[in-house]
Amino acid sequence: MNILNRVDKDCCGCAACMNSCPVSCITMKPDSEGFLYPSVDETACINCKKCEKVCPVLKGRQVDNKPKAYLVRHRSKGMRASSTSGGFFVAAAEYVIKQGGCVFGVGFDENFCVRHSFIENTGDIRRFNRSKYVQSEVGLSYRKVKEFLDNGRMVLFSGTPCQVEGLLNYLGRDYDRLLTMDIICKGVPSPKFWRKYLNWHKKRSGKDIKEVRFREKTYGYGSTTMRVIYSDGSEYDEPYDVDPMLQFYSKEMISRPSCHNCKVKGKHRRSSFTAGDYWYVSGAAPEMDDGIGVSQVLVNDEKAAAAFEEIRKRLDVAELDFDNDSAINGGMMVSSAVASPRRDEMFADLDKMSVHGLQKKYFPSTFKLKNRIKRQIRPIMYKTGILKIYKRRMRKKQSEGR
Ligand SMILES: Cc1cc2nc3c(=O)[nH]c(=O)nc-3n(C[C@H](O)[C@H](O)[C@H](O)COP(=O)(O)OP(=O)(O)OC[C@H]3O[C@@H](n4cnc5c(N)ncnc54)[C@H](O)[C@@H]3O)c2cc1C
Repeated sequence: MNILNRVDKDCCGCAACMNSCPVSCITMKPDSEGFLYPSVDETACINCKKCEKVCPVLKGRQVDNKPKAYLVRHRSKGMRASSTSGGFFVAAAEYVIKQGGCVFGVGFDENFCVRHSFIENTGDIRRFNRSKYVQSEVGLSYRKVKEFLDNGRMVLFSGTPCQVEGLLNYLGRDYDRLLTMDIICKGVPSPKFWRKYLNWHKKRSGKDIKEVRFREKTYGYGSTTMRVIYSDGSEYDEPYDVDPMLQFYSKEMISRPSCHNCKVKGKHRRSSFTAGDYWYVSGAAPEMDDGIGVSQVLVNDEKAAAAFEEIRKRLDVAELDFDNDSAINGGMMVSSAVASPRRDEMFADLDKMSVHGLQKKYFPSTFKLKNRIKRQIRPIMYKTGILKIYKRRMRKKQSEGR
């Protein structure tokens, strides 16, 4: 029985097994939904079981820590505008690189595949900036992290909770010079759906894609907008309830199966930092609510706390009460999102239907006149300042209604 038989659909695709295999007999291969799973070359396998020992799903975890919770925002408005939340990642990456370290994170490759890689210059931080709502391919990054650490370099590794667990299991011991940042994670969407979505863009526009921003903030932090910039500089801008990638993701139709039964989430984590969004800023720290975004950060251990003392020099910071679940916006921190009952049906349709066809079948209201008008007036509301006032009121209401 190999590792895949043991974990089956609980496999989170973190690739710790592939990284740990001493004879490199494990590769990660896509299934029919486009998610990567380990494939074992049984003829080369020496049955050492290292892959099982590092697997976050099989290993489980026990964490006994006393995290501190903060609301933070990067002091540079520009950095914050180009970050998903409040720009904590940028501040942490700047700090580590200034110490001579390197930073592992998730960016696009030249074909817009979502992958882990590393950077060593502050000028490259923008490559990892912004959430990419697609499961990233870790490749052999954990081996590279170990190589840097063994050579005495400082490393910041950022990723989903399962990827950070995978790395820590792979390393097998603590390193003074390692910091990790996991995200509060709703789930990771299918790379196959993503590829289909990119092709849809190319076909409908007749242009190549230059840039993708999943959470463009032009209309404010709370107005999740997909922006695709084409090769000629023209732009596609659609809100989360119209853009197909964000629509299928938000309605839980395209996340990895294991995300609906996540084994590594929790309030207590082995990462140094946990970062996520924070929607109740107008209640918790109204002075930090300028509509450009804030991050909620858990500082999970003493090593992280020491680093945070330096990182916070780049941040505005307010304390949150870790023991109060609603104060720390704990929903996706601990619970798995429930899969749509139509998820399997959608994946069965994926190879047969166009993106437009899928949208017409699963979200017909997208094309209703009422919704089309709403989309037309949004830029006008934005330009006249009405959208800003409306969003601020909504955020205030959200804070009060908790
Ligand atoms: C798939 C996904 C789901 C998320 N779900 C939630 C949620 O439900 N609730 C919530 O509060 N926050 C969620 N987040 C986290 C949130 O979107 C921000 O990433 C986080 O708040 C950090 O923002 P920032 O402003 O500090 O930095 P940014 O610069 O925006 O963050 C970028 C960081 O995210 C990492 N990253 C980007 N894409 C990926 C990816 N595909 N896989 C792994 N790491 C990635 C980068 O390496 C970098 O460290 C999610 C993020 C992702 C990628």
